[in-house]
Amino acid sequence: MRLYNSLTKRTETFEPKREGIIDIYVCGPTVYNYIHIGNARPVVFFDVVRRFFEHMGYTVNFVSNFTDVDDKIVTKALEDETDEMTIANRFIEAFYRDVERLGSTTKYLAPRVTEHMSAIIDYIDRLVRSGYAYERNGNVYFRVSEIPDYGMLSGRRVEELMEGARVSVEAEKENPLDFTLWKRVEEGVTYPSPWGEGRPGWHTECVAMIEEIFGGHIDIHGGGTGLMFPHHENEIAQHRAVHGHPIANYWMHNGLLNIDQQKMSKSEGRVILVKDLDYDYMGFRLFTLNTHYRAPIDYSDETLTNHVNDWQKIKRTYAQTFYRLDLAEKLDRNGSFDSRLNRIYHNFIEAMEQDFNTPNAITELHNLTKYANQKLREKDTFPQMRAAVELFDTFFRVLGLDPRVRRLTQNDRALYHAWTEARQHKEYERADAIREKLQERGII
Ligand SMILES: [Zn+2]
Repeated sequence: MRLYNSLTKRTETFEPKREGIIDIYVCGPTVYNYIHIGNARPVVFFDVVRRFFEHMGYTVNFVSNFTDVDDKIVTKALEDETDEMTIANRFIEAFYRDVERLGSTTKYLAPRVTEHMSAIIDYIDRLVRSGYAYERNGNVYFRVSEIPDYGMLSGRRVEELMEGARVSVEAEKENPLDFTLWKRVEEGVTYPSPWGEGRPGWHTECVAMIEEIFGGHIDIHGGGTGLMFPHHENEIAQHRAVHGHPIANYWMHNGLLNIDQQKMSKSEGRVILVKDLDYDYMGFRLFTLNTHYRAPIDYSDETLTNHVNDWQKIKRTYAQTFYRLDLAEKLDRNGSFDSRLNRIYHNFIEAMEQDFNTPNAITELHNLTKYANQKLREKDTFPQMRAAVELFDTFFRVLGLDPRVRRLTQNDRALYHAWTEARQHKEYERADAIREKLQERGII
């Protein structure tokens, strides 16, 4: 398995810390709003990462957090005249509904910041005691100057960052690059700490939870490219200060999703929420996976429609193959893999092993569809059709695509036999009427 490591900027051979087990942490959402289709990208992609590793026989420990303490949640609670917990609960529920729509089934641990507050405060306290952080008027800041290679992940130089920093705004910082670990606040929910009432900064949440859940060292840290700076850079800095070793062996960042070549923006009305997406979600999944995860995706209704149509075609072929076997009662037999099918499977795995090249993997899904269509037209091909269905099932499981095709019911079978009978008796009108019904159900 080869993985592109955002930290070293190289494609490396992937080796987990412990044999057969992979620890993954992906930064989760701040729960004050519904997620948009750009937020859906890591939800889909990292679900495929987990699925593929499991297919290859690994046990995957997958953690993704909920940031349920944040200024944005406080503002939303004030707007809605309710408390922060109500807001957080509402949008966590909404998030899970969206995840389900998207077909992501990762059963991950989803720690909430409020559940780990004492670990976060303890983490900040250790940074203060060791001289990596300092307190000013109830605020705690991280001393960036203590980290010699600060900026290594995002490839930014401290001098450049200094030039861009606004020096005057937070005069109590020693250095304008120092970031907030604890914030004194007057409004909204607060927590007691050695520095007074306040709320934690976003950057400490993930490192404190990774330490508490995984013991401070994971295989893969993931998230969107937008999180690289400052969030992930600051995670690395804090972890280095506390542990002296890297937090993750591999960093994976997914690219952005733009709408009509522009960044999604709520204020400019250029945003599509997952819940409002007026398309087949499996088609959307195919659409996001048909671009390599590191490249940006350019969303347009037209490209999405093309993928939705592609998915319909794949699904139709799968359904027809499946039902043909079901009607002939050959669904429980073993398939016979010929060299062409073996090559399709081999190419699929190879694509996935090359830094999750899902577009190439999807090409093999199309090749499989062509193969199945051919076998549907040929005679005496049940063993090959059965093998094609098995391979479809594998590809669907890895990519998280669900064709929602289930075994035929008694009614379906009766309808099919009535159709065959009508044709045999040359009752064409009746046969046509039944055929329409069968087609509606996708059976023929
Ligand atoms: Zn994070």
